[in-house]
Amino acid sequence: MSHLMNTYARLPIAFSHGDGSWVTDTDGKCYLDALAGIAVSTLGHNHPALVAAIAAQAGRILHSSNLYRIPQQEQLADKLAALAGMDEVFFCNSGCEANEAAIKLARYYGHRRDVERPAIVVMENAFHGRTMATLSATGNRKAQAGFEPLVSGFVRVPYNDLEAIRAVARANQNVVAVMLEIVQGEGGIHIADVDFQRGLRTLCDENDWLLICDEVQCGTGRTGTWFGFQHAGIRPDVVTLAKGLGGGVPIGACLTRGKATGLFKPGKHGSTFGGNHLASIAALTTIAVIEEDGLIDNAVAIGRLIREGLAQALAACTGVVEIRGQGLMIGVELDRPCAELVLRALDVGLLINVTADRVVRLLPPLNFSADDARELVTRLGGLIGDFLAP
Ligand SMILES: *Cc1c(COP(=O)(O)O)cnc(C)c1O
Repeated sequence: MSHLMNTYARLPIAFSHGDGSWVTDTDGKCYLDALAGIAVSTLGHNHPALVAAIAAQAGRILHSSNLYRIPQQEQLADKLAALAGMDEVFFCNSGCEANEAAIKLARYYGHRRDVERPAIVVMENAFHGRTMATLSATGNRKAQAGFEPLVSGFVRVPYNDLEAIRAVARANQNVVAVMLEIVQGEGGIHIADVDFQRGLRTLCDENDWLLICDEVQCGTGRTGTWFGFQHAGIRPDVVTLAKGLGGGVPIGACLTRGKATGLFKPGKHGSTFGGNHLASIAALTTIAVIEEDGLIDNAVAIGRLIREGLAQALAACTGVVEIRGQGLMIGVELDRPCAELVLRALDVGLLINVTADRVVRLLPPLNFSADDARELVTRLGGLIGDFLAP
């Protein structure tokens, strides 16, 4: 009997090592990694610069706590603030913690404006994490079932529906913030319309609400800009990051700007591990490699190659509803549940994911090559073609 708590339906393989976009399991079989550990392994596997930076840092000091200054964390905050156009950064260790910080911040902001029961507008099909507050913000009844009472203070609206949020503005005086993913990941790769994003920015300004962008999955270069909101040219008041930020080392961040800045004082929030020496150096190095190797442009070009390649490979298939995405965040929606494709992909040496029942999700490393892309299209195109064949 396994002593692991049964929180994941784990696939029956384990990886021993990886190199670039390829990983090898403990039986020696190789797989093309088009998932990057759920958008985490930004630089693929065994990247020499990241390995060297982590090893060197491990040889000096791993952790000292936030009771002391951490120079690497200060540098990382400067870098993220510059890239995102934000003012301040709080560091933690995961996406749900980054969102938890954002939710606490929004409530604190509300109380400072004398809103006694502050509420946050959240979206249908959103995913914000598994802690009690982030689970309550998540728009998935199945994930919430059995964990009631949920945290109160969330108002749910359909995604991409500005009119619905305007109606909330008229009806509910307690709203202090709106929280959304610019590209919904777990929800099935749905992209916020540019007009919706811009209208939402204006609506938040008119009502003095905080606009919180959960970029835990779509941030750190994945969609072909440093952050998803940059496609629409808007700036949120709060941005949350995690997954790809540390290139595989756990780190989360909550960035603030303008009226969201300067709210927390010592004692209001914290994290023992948050932004320690090791995690900060991993994130700094990941960002440096993205810049030096032009990986944002690569995400744009390779993302297009994959989407166009799949469109061509699947042109004759009925049953493909849509191939969509931005940069290297790609979804192939089918007209039927397709979870079994994950296992079939393992057979042909390919790592993919299926989310929202019917959407094949691809989140390859940002340094995926054109050859990797062609290999992915060949293997996945064949799999989906066979799966949909009458
Ligand atoms: C994965 C994810 C989270 C939760 O991150 P964890 O590190 O698993 O806590 C939150 N928001 C979004 C958009 C995510 O994709």
